Amino acid sequence: MAPVIIAIDGPAGSGKSSVSKQAAREKGFGYLDTGAAYRALAWASLNLDGYSLEQLETKDLAAEFAYTISIDPDNYSVKVGNTDVTEAIRQSEVAEYVSQVARIPAVRSYMKALTHRIVAESGLAGVIVEGRDITTVVAPEAPVRILLTANEAVRLKRRSAELSESTAASVMRQVSERDASDSKVVDFMTPAPGVQLVDTSDLNFNQSVSAVLSLIEQGLS
Ligand code: C5P
Repeated sequence: MAPVIIAIDGPAGSGKSSVSKQAAREKGFGYLDTGAAYRALAWASLNLDGYSLEQLETKDLAAEFAYTISIDPDNYSVKVGNTDVTEAIRQSEVAEYVSQVARIPAVRSYMKALTHRIVAESGLAGVIVEGRDITTVVAPEAPVRILLTANEAVRLKRRSAELSESTAASVMRQVSERDASDSKVVDFMTPAPGVQLVDTSDLNFNQSVSAVLSLIEQGLS
């Protein structure tokens, strides 16, 4: 049987990655971070020949971009060819550039097909897929579709909790700018019809995971 998709969207700092990962562990499902592929492509665009923004508009990414990601929630790793880019794609140089890559229509349709291929090849009963357009574009037929949000003050606080004060200020600026620019491409702040909203502003981590798990139980029963 094809793996079931649990679609989770939300803005940066909503907690969707850590919450999705924990929910996947508890269900024995895979965890797929779709933002990583956009980041890896942005990394390639900054570091490899043949991946300029202009070239990305026409490149056969399915044939040429050698992208791999682990979907084990306990063992996260991302590669382009033989290069491990797990750390590199988190650098601010990539974060500042990724929206420009994500806005290219050919890139978005490649990402949709890539996501379905990774899920189909997982060999698992289910995969929690998180991103920005999973509930609306990539998997609108998924039996469970969730929009995980939190108000902006909470999101910025979560993002900067582990950083020094000066980097916190620049991360805040960066996250706000990235959300503003991404939301011109896909609306990930309001739930589409049939998508369930989980606002985590007043929920701690465990409460957020429980809220997601109960929606998964409901949707799959
Ligand atoms: O989730 P994360 O913040 O790592 O995503 C990085 C970038 O990838 C986002 O800022 C956005 O530009 C893009 N993205 C997207 N659609 C998705 C997932 C990520 O456009 N489904």
